[in-house]
Amino acid sequence: MLVVCPTPIGNLDDVSPRQREALAQADIIACEDTRNAGKLLERLGVARVEGRPKLWRYDDHTAQAQAERLVEELQEGQKVVLISDAGTPTISDPGYRLVRAARQAGLEVVALPGPVAATVGLSASGLASDRFYFEGFLPTRSAARQARHRALEGLGVSVIYYESPRRLEETLSDLEAVCGPEREICVGRELTKRFEEYFWGTVAEVRTQVAAREELRGELVLVVAPGQATDVSAEEAEADRLIEALLEQGLSS
Ligand code: SAM
Repeated sequence: MLVVCPTPIGNLDDVSPRQREALAQADIIACEDTRNAGKLLERLGVARVEGRPKLWRYDDHTAQAQAERLVEELQEGQKVVLISDAGTPTISDPGYRLVRAARQAGLEVVALPGPVAATVGLSASGLASDRFYFEGFLPTRSAARQARHRALEGLGVSVIYYESPRRLEETLSDLEAVCGPEREICVGRELTKRFEEYFWGTVAEVRTQVAAREELRGELVLVVAPGQATDVSAEEAEADRLIEALLEQGLSS
């Protein structure tokens, strides 16, 4: 069985009994970085006895062959647990190709619930969360970033980004150019960690708060309140309504 196992995004107390048990019972732990994984096991008090669980480096981009080897191990009955450096594997992290390979081979896959920085940031943001879009990391070039902001505006839902503190000011400036200074946003920094904090307000207000800080470090989640949905979705909704009405008529005649 392949187990997709989230790990804490900062606070070790966020590890669940099911996650700890999965790690303790694994034959193989597939991880981004074997040294980080080893340290994590140590800090969680999961003992490795005679090299078990084995730690195997797994990375979507370089290791198609690794996925094949892991699938072979799964087929031989080995318990493989997939983790990433922090949070939930497959979310802006490697893993989905391994999960896909396991599914294609007809193997059992389970995913344990656990921390995702995006949803922690969203749930603390106070911004509309009935519908949302997760973008992850933005492109490095400003023009490309603005193009993404423009494309996502039309969705009419809150958008969640992962961003580095070094680039936050530039990203907020791009955001302001596309969404204007009055759009509400929330930046969550170092979530679940000792220096956790939030910057909340309009883009202009948050830019001022951020500029007042000498240096920002650590990890960030940026949540942007919904823009105006474009007519495309209104047209699609109208088309859906018409189709439903026609189908209903057809059924009742
Ligand atoms: N798989 C992870 C998850 O489930 O959230 C995401 C991994 S992605 C490579 C790393 C990015 O997630 C960071 O650059 C940051 O934007 C965000 N992130 C991770 N931990 C965070 C934290 N404690 N506070 C704020 N953002 C965090």
